[in-house]
Amino acid sequence: MAYEDAQLMKYEAVIGLEVHAQMLTDTKMFCGCSTKFGAEPNTQTCPICTGMPGVLPVMNKKALEFTIKTGTAMNCKISSYSSFARKNYFYPDLPKGYQISQYELPICEHGYIEIVVDGEIKKVGITRIHMEEDAGKNIHEGTGSYSFVDLNRAGVPLMEIVSEPDIRTPGEAAEYMRKMRTILRYLGVCDGNMEQGSLRCDANVSVRPVSQKEFGVKTEIKNINSFRFVEKALEYEIKRQIKVLEAGGKIIQETRLWDSVTGTTQSMRTKEEAHDYRYFPEPDLVPIMVDDRWINEIRKTLPELPDLKRKRFVLKYGLPEYDADLLTSERSIADWYEDTVKLGGQPKAVSNWMMGELMRLLNEDNKSIEECILKPEQLAAMLKLIDNGTISGKIAKTVFEEMYKTGEDAETIVKEKGLVQISDEGAIEKAIDEVISKNQKEVTRFRAGEERLLGFFVGQVMKLTKGKANPQIVNELLKKKLS
Ligand code: ADP
Ligand code: ZN
Ligand code: MG
Repeated sequence: MAYEDAQLMKYEAVIGLEVHAQMLTDTKMFCGCSTKFGAEPNTQTCPICTGMPGVLPVMNKKALEFTIKTGTAMNCKISSYSSFARKNYFYPDLPKGYQISQYELPICEHGYIEIVVDGEIKKVGITRIHMEEDAGKNIHEGTGSYSFVDLNRAGVPLMEIVSEPDIRTPGEAAEYMRKMRTILRYLGVCDGNMEQGSLRCDANVSVRPVSQKEFGVKTEIKNINSFRFVEKALEYEIKRQIKVLEAGGKIIQETRLWDSVTGTTQSMRTKEEAHDYRYFPEPDLVPIMVDDRWINEIRKTLPELPDLKRKRFVLKYGLPEYDADLLTSERSIADWYEDTVKLGGQPKAVSNWMMGELMRLLNEDNKSIEECILKPEQLAAMLKLIDNGTISGKIAKTVFEEMYKTGEDAETIVKEKGLVQISDEGAIEKAIDEVISKNQKEVTRFRAGEERLLGFFVGQVMKLTKGKANPQIVNELLKKKLS
C-alpha cells in the first residue's frame, strides 16, 4: 500500500453542510421588489433593499410559509415563537451594513433527512433552518480597474439549512446535497439551480484519528456550486488536513475558498466568531408567532415526499433501494416511471431501461425528462415486443434509441428497419451450419472439452444474423449441433 493511502486510512472525516436555498417567492424578503433572475443590474431595487435610512422592512409571508413547509418535510420541530436578528458585517454588496437573519430563535429545529449510501439508508440530522435575506453581487470581472455592485439579489429570501456533523465522506456529502435539492424541488420552494446560485453550500470539515471520539478542528469551505465540487473540494481538504497533522502541524479554524480551476482550497480568512457579528434582535420586525392550525394546513399541502415515494417504490414494485432512490430523484422521473408501469411495463424492466438507456441519452443531450419526446406508452409497447419475442433485448436497444430520437413507435421502427427477431428454427439452423463449417478448428476444440467456446459460436451466429436471431434458440440449437 502506498504511504499516502496508509496515512489516509488512519483518519476519519467529519462533515457538516450549511446550505443556502433561494426561495421561489415572486418578491423579496422584506420589500415588494421582484426576485426574477437575470434582469439588468440594479433594476429590481427599492429604498428598502438598497438600505436607505428611515425605511421599514415587512416580512414576506410566503417565505415564512415556504420555510415551514421545508421544515415540516425535513422532520423539524416548528417553533411557535421565533424572531429576526441583525448580523452585522461590512461588505459592499450589503448596503445596510447588516443582514437580517435569525439567530437564537430560528423557525425550524431538530430535523433530519435520509440519504441512501451503498444501498443503505442513513439519517443526517438537520440542526436548524432559518430565514434570511441574500446579499447583492460584487462584480470584479471585465470591469477594468473598477468593481461594480448589483443589488438585484439583495433581499432575496433565503433559507439556511444547517446539518449536524453526521456526514462522514465526500460521497455522502454529495448525496446529501442531491437529496436536499430533490426535496426542495418536490416542494416547489427552490428551483435548485446550482449554476445560477439559487442553491449553494458551505462545507465544514474536520478529521480525527479513527479511534478518537472528539471532533478535530474544522475548516469551512465556501464557494461550492456543484455536486461534483462538493465531493472534490472535500476530498482535497481532507487530504490537506491529514497531511498537516501527519507532519506534526495543527489545523487552524479558518474559512477557505474552493478554486475549481486548480482543484484546491485556499485560505481566505481566519474564522470569525459569532460575537464578531454583534448579533442583536432586529428592532424593526415583530416576533413571528405561528399557530398549530396554520402549520397543519401547510402540512396538508405537502406532496408525497421522495423518502416516502422511495419506500413505496421498494414495497410496491419490488425495486432495490438504489433503483428507487434514482427514480424518485425528481417528481417528473417518478411519474414517468409509474405511468410506464401502469401501462403494463414489468417494474424492474422499466427501471432498467430508464436508468440505463433513457438516462444515458438524456444526459448526452443535456435534457430533462419533460423535454423527452419518447413517451411512457411507447416504452411500455416496446417492452411488450420483447416479451412476445418480436424483438430481442439487443435489438431493442437500437429500437429504443430510434424511438428516443424520432418519437416514432417501436412497432413502426421494427417494421421499417426489418428488425423482427428470427425465431424460425430452420433459418437459425442454416446460420449455425454455416458458422460450424467455417470454424472447424474451434469445433474440434469445443468437442475436446473447451466449453467456453460456446460464447464464440453464439457471437458468430448473432453476427451472421445481424443480431436478429433469438439468442435462446441459438444457444439450444448450438449445444445440440456441437455435442
Ligand atoms: P460555527 O460556530 O463555526 O458556526 P457551528 O457549530 O454553528 O459552527 O456549525 C456549523 C456547521 O459545521 C454545522 O453544519 C456543523 O454540523 C458543522 N460542524 C461543527 N463542528 C464540526 C466539526 N468539528 N467538524 C466538521 N463539521 C463541524
Ligand atoms: Zn426592494
Ligand atoms: Mg454557527
